[in-house]
Amino acid sequence: MKTVSFRDSPSTRRVGKILCLGRNYEAHVLEMRASVLETPVVFLKPSTALLSSGFDVVIPPFARELHHEVELVVLIGRNGKKIPRTVALEYVAGYAVGLDMTLRDVQAEAKKGGLPWTVAKGFDTAAPVSSFVAPEAVPDPHHLAIALQVNGLTRQTSNTSKMILSIEQIIEYLSTVFTLEEGDLIFTGTPSGVGPVVPGDQLHAEIESVGFLEVGIRAEH
Ligand code: MG
Repeated sequence: MKTVSFRDSPSTRRVGKILCLGRNYEAHVLEMRASVLETPVVFLKPSTALLSSGFDVVIPPFARELHHEVELVVLIGRNGKKIPRTVALEYVAGYAVGLDMTLRDVQAEAKKGGLPWTVAKGFDTAAPVSSFVAPEAVPDPHHLAIALQVNGLTRQTSNTSKMILSIEQIIEYLSTVFTLEEGDLIFTGTPSGVGPVVPGDQLHAEIESVGFLEVGIRAEH
């Protein structure tokens, strides 16, 4: 899947790049024993990492620890560079529930060596995304309950009001580095409560007014 769909319309969008924010909820920064940085932490996932609701995240054979990170995902609807925060929301074409699936052991090794996170964050199936809803369906994207359950038990629960950088600030910052293009996705960071999942687990991620996403976990043979 390199396209995303909309919940309330038959249209689809071809996905370009997938930009992801790290350390955007203070409680998550604390649980990772990291610090809030002045410059946002940004990384990329390839579009081949996309996964639709109803399918399985596949743990590659070289990894031992897969973590869930539930996140609000923003779809960019028009091209822009150096977008001021005052007009940033005009560039948003939709919102979805996403999971920034992370090979935590692979990431920890990379961090230790000062190396990139690409493998830990970009493997096939690392980016499950629900269908999108139009911005008009979301009264205030900075006031949404966000939660993740594993096998029916709540692991992450927070509110998008706790994001350190707002969506406007994220778009403003990212567009100083990258030209944002129609079809790009932005993962806006995860709240606290991240943890491991194992083959056979069922994940249910949900964001108020936006929708939900369900995926299973299996190991690659
Ligand atoms: Mg994340």
